[in-house]
Amino acid sequence: MTEIYDSIIIGASAGGISAAIYLKRQNLNFLMIAKDIGGEMVLSGIVENYPGFPETNGVELTEKFKEHLKKYQVEPVNDKVIALEKNNSVFTVKTEKNSYQAKTVIVATGSTPKKLNVPGEEKLYHRGVSYCYVCDLPLFKNKIVAIVGGGNSANEAGIMGSKICQKVYVITKNPEMKGDKFLIEELKSKPNVEIINNALTQEIYGDEFVKGLKYLDKNTNEIKDLKVDGVFIHIGLKPNSDFIPDNWQVKNEYGEIIVNELCQTKIPGLFAAGDVTNIPHKQIGIAVGQGIIAALQVSKYLNSNKWILKI
Ligand SMILES: Cc1cc2nc3c(=O)[nH]c(=O)nc-3n(C[C@H](O)[C@H](O)[C@H](O)COP(=O)(O)OP(=O)(O)OC[C@H]3O[C@@H](n4cnc5c(N)ncnc54)[C@H](O)[C@@H]3O)c2cc1C
Repeated sequence: MTEIYDSIIIGASAGGISAAIYLKRQNLNFLMIAKDIGGEMVLSGIVENYPGFPETNGVELTEKFKEHLKKYQVEPVNDKVIALEKNNSVFTVKTEKNSYQAKTVIVATGSTPKKLNVPGEEKLYHRGVSYCYVCDLPLFKNKIVAIVGGGNSANEAGIMGSKICQKVYVITKNPEMKGDKFLIEELKSKPNVEIINNALTQEIYGDEFVKGLKYLDKNTNEIKDLKVDGVFIHIGLKPNSDFIPDNWQVKNEYGEIIVNELCQTKIPGLFAAGDVTNIPHKQIGIAVGQGIIAALQVSKYLNSNKWILKI
């Protein structure tokens, strides 16, 4: 008979690792499945707001989290979850390579930056195209860059870029930038920042590295060309929740998993933590806190025997 784990944690970053530490300390029999360790946390660049670590960065913090997992001898299974099913109170977690069963599931799969899906974007990724201004803008000292996006991430990227780069274009498809007023005002005050409104990015070009970007000027219907050394794409994040069936109705319009303050979803035994949830603030500390809550709730759920196999 297939082993039925007490729990399966999907994701091994801030949310998943904190959940794993708590499940292990309760001596529960669980499995952790993840595509990588660290997820978006590794990409967080300088981190100055995680308590206990006044000055750290995503890579260093992830190493600390890994050490903690190692101390508890938790070895994540390196695989991608592609489907989730529930029958008779038992979940089946299907991955690319295997299939596992558990009484409960904690989803801590975070989110992925949205793509523009224009020619050149994929080919020039890591060759001037980046989805992480915090990580990569410092590599563009005195260069010319374009930030594509119209919200707070793009505002912040533009402000940071203004301090490092010779020139920053901020390209938004909207008539004006959106987000926090004080950020927009700061962005506008930077002499080396040029905001281009009503602009639809069409193509990123270059051979070895990015050389420029073409966009449709919606005001004139003309294709315009900008010579840039780097393109930073900040057009939003997509929660990694595709493997959760839509008919469970646990996701909101953005694909975020809807949880209550106890990280429960409306499917008994299914919990979620971190950036994949509908909690609006996407931060390491919040993912850690939710991971802990989810793990403690898993224990409570198992003790209540609600999972019991109905035959
Ligand atoms: C540029 C940038 C800067 C940031 N700066 C800060 C900061 O200064 N301070 C701060 O607190 N926060 C910051 N954040 C936010 C922070 O990175 C996130 O809030 C945090 O990483 C969320 O953790 P998580 O565990 O929810 O998800 P993630 O860190 O995204 O981890 C998701 C995990 O799930 C796994 N996974 C995903 N899909 C699957 C699947 N289908 N199957 C198996 N595994 C899967 C991944 O491999 C990974 O292990 C920043 C984010 C970015 C992008």
